[in-house]
Amino acid sequence: MISYGRQSISLEDIEAVTKVLSSDFLTQGPQVPHFEREVAEYCGAEHACAVNSATSALHIACLSLGLGPGDWLWTTPITFVSSANCALYCGAKVDFVDIDPDTCNLSIERLEEKLVHAKRNGCLPKILVPVHLAGQSCDMRAISELAQQYKFYVIEDAAHAVGGRYLKDPVGSCRFSDIAVFSFHPVKIITTGEGGMALTNNPQLSEKMHLLRSHGITRNPEKMTHVPDGEWYYQQIALGFNYRMTDIQAALGRSQLKRVDEFVARRQQLAARYNRLLEKLPVVLIKQYPDALSSFHLYVIRVNQKSHMSVFSFLREAGIGVNLHYIPVHTQPYYRQRGFHNITFPIAESYYREAVSLPIYPELDEQQQDIVVSALGEALAK
Ligand SMILES: *Cc1c(COP(=O)(O)O)cnc(C)c1O
Repeated sequence: MISYGRQSISLEDIEAVTKVLSSDFLTQGPQVPHFEREVAEYCGAEHACAVNSATSALHIACLSLGLGPGDWLWTTPITFVSSANCALYCGAKVDFVDIDPDTCNLSIERLEEKLVHAKRNGCLPKILVPVHLAGQSCDMRAISELAQQYKFYVIEDAAHAVGGRYLKDPVGSCRFSDIAVFSFHPVKIITTGEGGMALTNNPQLSEKMHLLRSHGITRNPEKMTHVPDGEWYYQQIALGFNYRMTDIQAALGRSQLKRVDEFVARRQQLAARYNRLLEKLPVVLIKQYPDALSSFHLYVIRVNQKSHMSVFSFLREAGIGVNLHYIPVHTQPYYRQRGFHNITFPIAESYYREAVSLPIYPELDEQQQDIVVSALGEALAK
């Protein structure tokens, strides 16, 4: 079986992990702050907060921006459920902005229309979560202009886009957002097994996220209500969680980070080769914009002359682990039962009916890629 995505683990990665296993700290040691500093530096962001998943990062990012009951968070329907669930964890409400038919990212035109409407009805969002689908950045400059005009915060869900670029800056620089979130799940660009990170240029947000990551407990006397003289002491000053990343994971992340550019270059090379090989087939690709340089976490094709399910099943039977990204979030039963039973986002829904994700990962070789393309040709000709 050729999977749609998989990790690339080197001997050096294994050595980095085993070194931590025989050290003094498996968690709360020096590896996590090192990893945070290295990722922040790579992205050109001021601060980073490592956590146990991107889902946790989204949750504490929302809390640190004060999201709560009565507030709205908007995101795209074409994403993993986490981008929306983070609002529900905070007791806030979720709504969606339909996608752009070319990039399949959240549509700036639909967003602007929806903001005009929401302003009239007094229900503007507190937070927008744009998702860089497949690794291609959204139009962040346009989004940040709207954020200033309509006064909402922006959390980039950059789970797919580690190593990608926008206007030459690394994704994660937060030049046009308040917070950006990465995932280090094994199918993503670099991995820590499970893991995530929130980046920001705002020291207060960083401090809040670090506090919430670890139970809301501080050891900083300046943050405490009182400090007993000369005693060892800590105080819980917020309701936090145990969302910590271990040192074992951070060591793997640090080792993986050394190869991030190599991973992305290989993915871009495979994507370019797919583009050439698919030229004669009746498929539509996600349009790439010159402002963004995709990390190609996913390589999505759209089959508009056939049901994507027939293509999907044919390829799965041929041993090719294609995938579908994503079932629109508002069509999930949990969302259907909570207000979205007769709401449609037509572009997202028609995109979903056509989309198939082909295998792409650094260790996929040309021979395997040829097998994928020839099976796809057969599936489309049937
Ligand atoms: C993978 C993913 C997440 C969740 O990441 P975890 O680290 O598994 O929690 C969130 N958003 C998007 C768009 C993703 O692809």
